[in-house]
Formats: sequence, structure tokens, C-alpha cells
Amino acid sequence: MDEQVFDLVIIGSGAGNTIPDHRFDDRSVAIIDKGSAYNGAFGGTCLNVGCIPTKMFVYPADVAEEARGAGPLGVDAEVTATRWADIRDRVFGRIDRYAAGGLRYRVEKCPNITVFQQEAHFLPKSGDGLHRLELADGSVVTGREVVIAAGSRAIVPPVFTAGSAPVHTSDSIMRLDALPGHVIIAGSGYIAAEFAHVFAGLGSEVTIVARGPRLLRSQDETISELFTELVSDRWDVRLRTEVTATRAVGDGVEVDLTDGTTVAGDVLLVATGRTPNGDTLALPAIGIELDGSGRIPVDEHQRTSVRGVWALGDVSTRFPLRHVANHEARVTAENLLSGWDTPTATSDHRFVPGAVFSHPQVASVGLNESVARAMGIDVAVAVQRYSDVAYGWAMGDVAGVCKLVADRSTGLLIGAHIVGPQASTLIQSAITAMSFSIPALEFARGQYWIHPALPELVENALLGLAKDA
Ligand SMILES: Cc1cc2nc3c(=O)[nH]c(=O)nc-3n(C[C@H](O)[C@H](O)[C@H](O)COP(=O)(O)OP(=O)(O)OC[C@H]3O[C@@H](n4cnc5c(N)ncnc54)[C@H](O)[C@@H]3O)c2cc1C
Repeated sequence: MDEQVFDLVIIGSGAGNTIPDHRFDDRSVAIIDKGSAYNGAFGGTCLNVGCIPTKMFVYPADVAEEARGAGPLGVDAEVTATRWADIRDRVFGRIDRYAAGGLRYRVEKCPNITVFQQEAHFLPKSGDGLHRLELADGSVVTGREVVIAAGSRAIVPPVFTAGSAPVHTSDSIMRLDALPGHVIIAGSGYIAAEFAHVFAGLGSEVTIVARGPRLLRSQDETISELFTELVSDRWDVRLRTEVTATRAVGDGVEVDLTDGTTVAGDVLLVATGRTPNGDTLALPAIGIELDGSGRIPVDEHQRTSVRGVWALGDVSTRFPLRHVANHEARVTAENLLSGWDTPTATSDHRFVPGAVFSHPQVASVGLNESVARAMGIDVAVAVQRYSDVAYGWAMGDVAGVCKLVADRSTGLLIGAHIVGPQASTLIQSAITAMSFSIPALEFARGQYWIHPALPELVENALLGLAKDA
């Protein structure tokens, strides 16, 4: 039987699907994707079960929390009900249609592209320089070059699979039939913090069980401490605690904790982390070994150790975020065009920002103060409170801070951390200053800052740095 050889095979339809644009029209391309963990949809994690649907739940939760918290501003509002089914259907009415449209576009409008909706793994090298992937139905897809953009998956530790309680991950929790009365969340990272806000905001009771002493522990200590303190008023936060057993009880669940208590709830969400999918691809068959964290090692041009095989996004990066996967996909696309031996694009991971869309929001870029100090950098630090800028007054002396870290020897920002309203938007100016190496004082004084808008928080923090420099 004739073997169809594609110029390019892409595994993964998340960021991988952004690669074949008009510049690839003269290449035959195969996109292989087994589909989203929830419903087999095309388009990857961010679209189907990640960034986008979560934020579409976060926004109504924000609105409800703002309404509940408006009393001190003189606005007596009450959230009498939230309509979970309507919120869910608004989210997935759009997402599912969009995912189906994305698949239809590739299948019907891209004559050079063939989509295979199956799981794939590599077959051993055959010496002809081609790369062969076996699909779940036993057929083989062959590529001159392969981009691995296979993403990551939720981890469910054994204590949860061993118990009789049904377990949700971020893949399934957004599709619940009704708003649960009480959600128990295991985990303390950004996914746990975002879902805690979604459910608490929409009216559920939330218990969050965290192994460590603070939530969002990878954040700067000032930020994670304040975040943990602020949410503890609204969520039942169990710190330094682990789940030891789970049980299904009637329609609900019970979890036993190391603090000796048992918590009963309606649903259990496990948000204890994610792992890259490289281990599912039989990579040793072609000579690729994963690193100690399960990632596919790549160089700054997104090339793996095997000629013709590239990797990007969650499956390989230290920064499992969609904007990073997109950046790496752009770099990979450029380099596919310029050629393996003459790559023209380089990935830039100097200042990778991230945000947590909880309540309050958290956003950060660059080094934590403690990490910078441990690196021996002579740091200047400024912490500016929202309640000390005019718009913070307007918001009722709202809690939150902007913390900036600079290198005294250069005057450059090396870290920015915000917890409070609009943190994910406010952080952008710090990302700009860092990405373009603008000295902190020059950044503060070399432009207007609209008065009395919230970015004055960042302006004042920059000026505070000058005092500490
Ligand atoms: C709940 C949640 C919220 C998030 N929120 C944010 C956020 O706000 N901002 C942000 O930047 N990031 C967020 N992320 C992270 C973001 O979703 C990921 O970083 C991003 O989607 C990774 O893109 P990718 O292209 O590397 O992989 P993916 O989008 O995961 O695509 C990989 C695809 O490959 C397929 N695949 C895997 N193995 C195989 C195989 N062997 N054969 C065939 N197909 C295969 C998968 O089915 C999947 O469709 C969130 C993630 C989650 C889970």
C-alpha cells in the first residue's frame, strides 16, 4: 500500500493548530488530535476546558461578588440567585460551536490539511529520515517533520482514585447539571483558586484543602500571604492539610483530612496539578528522552534532539500557559519555514507573566523578592497599597498591593506582583517596562499616568522603588 507522506505532521490542535497559515499552503499538513478530555472536541485545552471557559465562569462570579461587597460603598445590592445552567449554557453554547467551527474550517476550507481525530504515538525510526506515527485505529501517518504540541493533562493522585467518591477535574467540573451547595477542592494553585472563586461567587460553600502553609505558594510571599488572608473570610481554607480518604455518601461526597476532620460536600474537585503528555507518545522509540519533570527538552528554536521533530507548549515548556504556547508556536512556524539548520526565530522566556483570575485577582511577572535575594541580586523593593491611591479610595479602600522588585545596580525592574482588582490588566505596564528594559524611574516619570486611574498604583510603586534604591 502507498504510504502518504506529509510535509508536516502536527500533534495537538491547541497552539499547534495556529502554525499552518497561508505560508504553509504549499505544504501537505496533517493535524492529529484525539480531542478534548471532556467531549473529544477539536482545539485543545485552552478553548475547550481551560483558559476561556473558566474566565467565562469567572466573570459572572466577579459580578456577583462585586454586588455582594457593595454595601460599604452605599449600594445595598443582593444576589438573590445565580442561574448555573444558564451560565454554563452561555459558556459552552459559544465554546462548543467555536470548536466545531475550527474543525470544520480545517476539514472543509484547507485543502492541504488533513485532520486525524485519533490518539497517536511514534513508531521506531526506520532510517529513511521520516517520522511515523501510529494512530489508535492502527493506521500510520508519516511526516518529513513533526511538531509535538500535545499539551498536558490533570493529575489525579491515588488517594482520590482509591476512594469511592466521584472525582471531578477541571475537565468536567464546568459541565455540572446544577450549582453544588458545597464544593470541596483539593489543591492550592491557580486552577484551585479560580474554581474556588467561581463556585463561592455563584453561591456555593467552598472548602479548599491545601498541603502547604499558603495558597498560590509559587507567588511572591507577600502576595500569597495576602491572598490567603483575604479569601479565608469567604472560603473554608484548610492549610497544611491533606486528604487521606474519600467516600461517596448518597448523592454527595465525604473527605477525611489529616487534621482529623471529615468534610461533607456535594462535589469533589481535584486540582492538584498537571503533567505534560510527552509520556503518552512513545518518544524513546525515536530517541527522545523526557527531562526530570516529564517535559520534552527543546532548544531556543523549539527543536528537539531529533532532527525534524519540534515541540512546543505545555508538553515541553517550563511555563504552561497559552500565551507562551502561542509564542512558541510562532517561533516554530518561522523556523519550519526557514529550515531546521537555519532557524531565524528564537523563543523569549525572559519575562513570562501569568494571572490568577480569582477574587482578588493575582498577576505576576519576573522574580519573587526571595528568589532575587537568593540569587544575590542587590534588590530594591516597593509595596504600594491600593488603599493609598485615589482610585483605591473610590473602590472603598479596597485591599490589595502592587509589589515591585528592581535591581539596584541597573535600575531595572526584575519582578512585579499584584494582588487586587484588575491585577491581570495592571501588570501589563510592568511587563512592558521589563520587556523593553526601561529603567523604573524613567518609566514612572517619562510618561503621563491618567489621574486618578488605577494604574497610579503601579506609578506610585515605581516611585517607591526610587526611594528604596
Ligand atoms: C482550568 C484551566 C485554566 C487555564 N487557564 C489559563 C489561563 O487563564 N491563561 C493561560 O495562559 N493558560 C491557562 N491554562 C493553561 C493553558 O490551557 C495551556 O497552557 C494551553 O492550553 C497549552 O496549549 P498547548 O497547545 O500546549 O496544548 P493543548 O491546548 O492542551 O493541546 C494539546 C492537544 O493535543 C492532544 N493530544 C495529546 N496527546 C495526544 C496524542 N497522543 N495523540 C493525539 N492528540 C493528542 C490533546 O487532546 C489536546 O487537544 C489553563 C489550563 C486549565 C486546565
